[in-house]
Amino acid sequence: MVIGFVIEQLLACLLIALAVYLGWHLHNINRLARWLNKPGKFHPPAGQGIWAEIFDRIYHLQQKNRDRKKKLAKYIARFKESTAAMPDATVVLNRYDQIEWVNKAAQESLGLQPAKDIGQHLSNLIRHPSFIRYLNRKDYETPLEIPAPVDEQQQLSVRIIPYGQNQRLLIARDITRIKRLEQMRRDFISNISHELRTPLTVIHGYLESMQDEADGPLAEWHDTLEMMMRQSGRMQNIVNDLLMLSRLENEELKPAAREEVPVPSQLYAIKEEALVLSAEKEHRITLECDNELGLYGVQNELYSVFSNLVFNAVRYTPKGGNITIRWYHDEAGAHLEVTDTGIGIPPQHLPRLTERFFRVDVGRSRDIGGTGLGLAIVKHVLERHQAKLRIKSQVNRGSTFICDFPAESMVIYPQQSVIKM
Ligand code: ADP
Repeated sequence: MVIGFVIEQLLACLLIALAVYLGWHLHNINRLARWLNKPGKFHPPAGQGIWAEIFDRIYHLQQKNRDRKKKLAKYIARFKESTAAMPDATVVLNRYDQIEWVNKAAQESLGLQPAKDIGQHLSNLIRHPSFIRYLNRKDYETPLEIPAPVDEQQQLSVRIIPYGQNQRLLIARDITRIKRLEQMRRDFISNISHELRTPLTVIHGYLESMQDEADGPLAEWHDTLEMMMRQSGRMQNIVNDLLMLSRLENEELKPAAREEVPVPSQLYAIKEEALVLSAEKEHRITLECDNELGLYGVQNELYSVFSNLVFNAVRYTPKGGNITIRWYHDEAGAHLEVTDTGIGIPPQHLPRLTERFFRVDVGRSRDIGGTGLGLAIVKHVLERHQAKLRIKSQVNRGSTFICDFPAESMVIYPQQSVIKM
């Protein structure tokens, strides 16, 4: 009986202790909730035991967080300050191409106004068709050139840079001055070539008449006249190539200028000309030609590309070498391949080969009547036909020049076959 009473008292004491302990915890949870709900209140309530430690840890975490936020805000402010001061127009876009932020230059050159344009879809405000196409495209590797929306005379180079999670940065640079200088350079070359053409034709004509007399009264001038003829002919070639280059640069290729080009018949003609040019060098020239394959393009421009590549192969291949011309198509498109067993090109020169007047060996190119403009013309024409030039070469082994035309520009003629000549 006494034992039962004692146990009862003990249980009662235990329950009371447990209730007090629970109450203490609830009281502390309540204090914690109140503290967390008051964002302005930084210092934690005083606690005891385990709660002192919990308050302390949460307090430190909060402090760390606050410091991080402050730093982040400072970085953002600095980023905004620096981009605001940038001379290039900068626009921050969200994943839906809506404007999130614009700098001062963007307000001036793109005509964007933060007060009413933030949140607007960019394509509603910059409506140039090629810009809309560029924005919807996923490949922003090459910048786009458009007239500024606020002033048609001003030219902008626009580039989109993806960053973060589906965010994009638009940067627009004023290139009006560069464009004007480029145009001046083009006009200068075009004008000077036109100016030189007539006097050169006259000089060449007189030299031709004098050469007719080189076996008679002008016999002692025979070698000199021949040299003068060769040099004036070279100058005429340079002027003609320069004129062609300026035309390619100045005139946009209009879709109407395109026609069906019978590439096989061009290649047969070029092969015949190449055999004449090769003459005593006795090259073996092979043409593997898909006779059913033509191209949509500009006839004389394509002729110039193919003949430049084939004639270069003849000129840079020593006596007795092989030259193979292949014209074929696969699922990627149509390809013209000119392979020679000639002198080859050192790898360091390959990237510069299509620059105007770039020659691996200036003396050699001049001796064989090169203008240094052939591959520049090739590059320009191919760009106008959405085609690309690939070059593979090994010194003293030979070179392969490949023109890759897109499948869309292929024309297939029926009922003919591949002919090897
Ligand atoms: P060029 O009138 O001097 O031949 P191009 O623009 O046609 O000018 O070619 C530029 C340079 O590229 C040439 O001077 C020559 O050094 C090099 N080259 C072009 N084709 C070949 C080739 N098939 N083999 C070796 N070198 C070549």
